[in-house]
Amino acid sequence: MSQIVVVEDEPAIAELIAINLRHAGHDVIVAATAEQARSQIDAMLPDLVVLDWMLPGQSGLSLARQWRADPRTRELPIIMLTARGEEPDKVAGLDAGADDYLTKPFSTNELMARIRAVLRRKAPESLEDAVEVGVLRIDPSTRRISGRVDGREVDLKMGPTEFRLLHFLMTHTERVHSRAQLLDRVWGDHVFIEERTVDVHVKRLREALSPAACAGMIETVRGAGYRLTQHASAAPA
Ligand code: CA
Repeated sequence: MSQIVVVEDEPAIAELIAINLRHAGHDVIVAATAEQARSQIDAMLPDLVVLDWMLPGQSGLSLARQWRADPRTRELPIIMLTARGEEPDKVAGLDAGADDYLTKPFSTNELMARIRAVLRRKAPESLEDAVEVGVLRIDPSTRRISGRVDGREVDLKMGPTEFRLLHFLMTHTERVHSRAQLLDRVWGDHVFIEERTVDVHVKRLREALSPAACAGMIETVRGAGYRLTQHASAAPA
């Protein structure tokens, strides 16, 4: 399941795309203007954006350029949609940083195939690759987690569940994950696990991160879930 934002001002097209994506098991949010899309992306970084070129006000093209210029959204996968099919436009779309480009009218099957391809390409690095967020580093191949304190590496010890939880959060940063989503993604088969189990492991994870003063990176978002952010407040909520 991926989180996908569809930016499209024509309600019929937006609805058609949203229905197909939801049917494929994705979480979909529709934005009708560049403004709405921006505030949505500011609030939560999705896995992919389907972005219409022609929008009222700011164009999709200029929005894509804006996202590419911002370090936070530089890697955001974007598929551009447009009614125009001329070659210079296509080049402009790809130059602006779109990962792929589709001309209207398109078949939903083709759009779904392109989305799958982009998501595959952009999937978080192989599960064995080391990942760094802020001062934290996790290396699944050696099962080593370290933080930096005053320029010095500090090894962090934690249990296997906290390790998996941290790895998931570090490969999906800045987004809020509900307890149900975390159970789904970290525990897998969670039919018999209560949601408050997540809280227990988050508490342990924060304790494990505290020697590197990183506990505050795991934020509690009231009523929503948890998020790992590198713009951490001093203390966990
Ligand atoms: Ca449009």
